[in-house]
Amino acid sequence: MKLTIALAGNPNCGKTTMFNNLTGAHQHVGNWPGVTVERKSGIVNFDVKGCQKGEVEVIDLPGTYSLSPFSRDEVVAADYLVDGNPDCILNIVDGTNLNRNLYLTTQLVELGIPVVIAINMIDVVKKRGDSINIPKLSAKLGVPVVEVSAISGEGLRKAIEECRDAVEHKLLPAKQRIFSDSVENALANIEKTLPQNIDHIRFLAVKVFERDERIVRFGASDDARKAAEPQIETCEKLFGDDAVSQIADGRFDFIDRMLKEAFHQNASRGVSISDKIDKVVTNRIFGLPIFFAIMFVLYWIAVTGPGTWFTDWTNDTLFGEWIMPWTSEHLAAAGASELMVSLVVDGVIGGLGAVLGFVPQMMILFLLLSILEDIGYMARIAFMLDGIFRRFGLSGRSMIPLLISSGCGVPGIMTARSIKDDGDRRATIMTATFVPCSAKLPLIALISGIILGGSVWMAPFMYFIGVVAVLVSSVILRHTGIIGRSAEPFVMELPDYHVPTFFTILMHMWDRIKGYLKKVGTILFAACVIIWFLASFGFHDGTFGLCDTEESIMAWLGGLIAPIFTPLGFGRWDAVAASISGFAAKESIVSTIGILSGAADATEEDAELWSAAAKMFPTSMAAFSFLLFNLLNSPCLAAVSTMWKELDTRKWAIIALVYQNVFAWLVSLVVYQMSVWIVTGAFTGWTFVAVLVLVAMVALLCFRLPWGVNTGKEKKAKINTQAAAAARG
Ligand code: GDP
Ligand code: MG
Repeated sequence: MKLTIALAGNPNCGKTTMFNNLTGAHQHVGNWPGVTVERKSGIVNFDVKGCQKGEVEVIDLPGTYSLSPFSRDEVVAADYLVDGNPDCILNIVDGTNLNRNLYLTTQLVELGIPVVIAINMIDVVKKRGDSINIPKLSAKLGVPVVEVSAISGEGLRKAIEECRDAVEHKLLPAKQRIFSDSVENALANIEKTLPQNIDHIRFLAVKVFERDERIVRFGASDDARKAAEPQIETCEKLFGDDAVSQIADGRFDFIDRMLKEAFHQNASRGVSISDKIDKVVTNRIFGLPIFFAIMFVLYWIAVTGPGTWFTDWTNDTLFGEWIMPWTSEHLAAAGASELMVSLVVDGVIGGLGAVLGFVPQMMILFLLLSILEDIGYMARIAFMLDGIFRRFGLSGRSMIPLLISSGCGVPGIMTARSIKDDGDRRATIMTATFVPCSAKLPLIALISGIILGGSVWMAPFMYFIGVVAVLVSSVILRHTGIIGRSAEPFVMELPDYHVPTFFTILMHMWDRIKGYLKKVGTILFAACVIIWFLASFGFHDGTFGLCDTEESIMAWLGGLIAPIFTPLGFGRWDAVAASISGFAAKESIVSTIGILSGAADATEEDAELWSAAAKMFPTSMAAFSFLLFNLLNSPCLAAVSTMWKELDTRKWAIIALVYQNVFAWLVSLVVYQMSVWIVTGAFTGWTFVAVLVLVAMVALLCFRLPWGVNTGKEKKAKINTQAAAAARG
């Protein structure tokens, strides 16, 4: 008898280990996401009763948490299980993590294919003294269940034989009522409208109920969905919850009920050190304050403390006093033209210097963040904040990219790769640069000087504004349907705390700095030259050539588009030209303001620059609006190009750019117009527009458009930790 068995299960449940043990193949066993990118097949290397040698084939599928695909890996697995026609599914379940693993199981048993469950890592389960009631599990799920240890090989033969029996006797999973009565009734009615010859009819009915767009691919017609719509809506009204969440909740509730009876945790199990630490740092009450305290110290060290000394030294002494004067002197002595000296010194060295100045600051910030990450603390924070983030349509995993973006958006956006869910990842990439990066700090200091005569509180306040902008945007992106919902249960490995080696931390930090330096070397280099050209060339007395910035192309460009910013309070060519220079590097905004306001040598800390720059902004409100716009609009070219690369398609990159600039413009408009209205009492046409925009934004935050998606309904499942770590050895 020929037999094709598909190995299906969550990532890290031991599929590859099992596959290797069954087939003798030596595949790479790894536990990072996406390691099993394609499915691999092999022949079982022992005799199975009733089968000839070579007749039992097993297929190692990519790990997946559910059959609703949220990542490419999951699409591969789901497609194979639905259309690939394996004879049997061997569902590998991590016995130390039943709660999360069985979520997939509840979907597999709907496919109309024989399923056998192998509870893996049984050695760990036993060592911990937990007990699993196998007959009860088997009865509740309606499929055979065996205990195995993929590592030692225990139970593997039995598992394969169960598969053979199931196929031979056509033992399909017994039908279970998993969901509430109303949902079950709706599903039964939907099944009646589907082609009856489909094996996976129950699976398909659930997909129709979930309004999954792939139903046509899986064998249903669009009419089936239209016919089902009234029933879906009835259920949604009844429970006040959308269909996707009802299904997910139903599965989790079913698992909870089942495990209450079938799983018994050893009460006297010792508490590990890791758990003891977690008791404090992920404590309901103290967890967040501890997190904020740690972040405060971290930013103090990196941004205001030692980090700044290095940065100031690099900017003012290394570049300002040594490299730039030295280069221009030598170039001039060597007979270089004025143009050449200007290009090299002002354009290239000045531009790159401004950017490189942030390297020490960033190195310290990234070093500290890497330590927190490598110890295992970040994962806890992501887990703790997940509840809050999810309410806003992001995942806890977005936390790390956001933190890194406060150093530099380039590595921040790159870190978003670790977010599997496409929607969450896109939302994170599109909004990460709202958090001020180090290059925006000088601008914050300058505007703080203009408005308040300097205050250290402006920077933390702008971080706060940045985070609010991230959360608000993410809700808007979901509620407008620009980004679709994610219904994947949140799962995050929380391995035990451990002390990383200094080398690991350094490598980690270096990885991030490397991304930044690469961009500086290529894109920023080009950007600096272009900005230099725009700012140094123009028509003077009718001839084109080197000129003062006031007459440059940039001034002309600034004047041309300045009217767009009149309603934001800074519709002046010089302010707009400074914003444009921000595309090379946000740091350039301050130096451009310095040049244009005639205080080129002053830094953002000097009152001289404050009063000079204040002339550019008629009021404090205008200055603040300028700051807000430049913090929220699209980031510098280096970050934009990273965004472009990480967002897969051009469509998404364009959406991101348009969104960022429109959002920045609208927020600045609202803040400026409203504050002018409040302070002066003048109500103009633009005030009216601002009121409309504000109302629309608030409405979008509270309600979704008909085609938009809700945020924050997903369940989360905590992965239990010591087990996973112990299992991995
Ligand atoms: P996959 O992601 O499902 O392919 O999982 P892997 O086969 O890569 O296994 C993940 C980790 O679990 C590896 O470190 C394995 O060594 C470990 N592992 C797998 N099966 C067992 C088992 O039965 N007992 C123990 N203790 N560890 C296991
Ligand atoms: Mg694998």
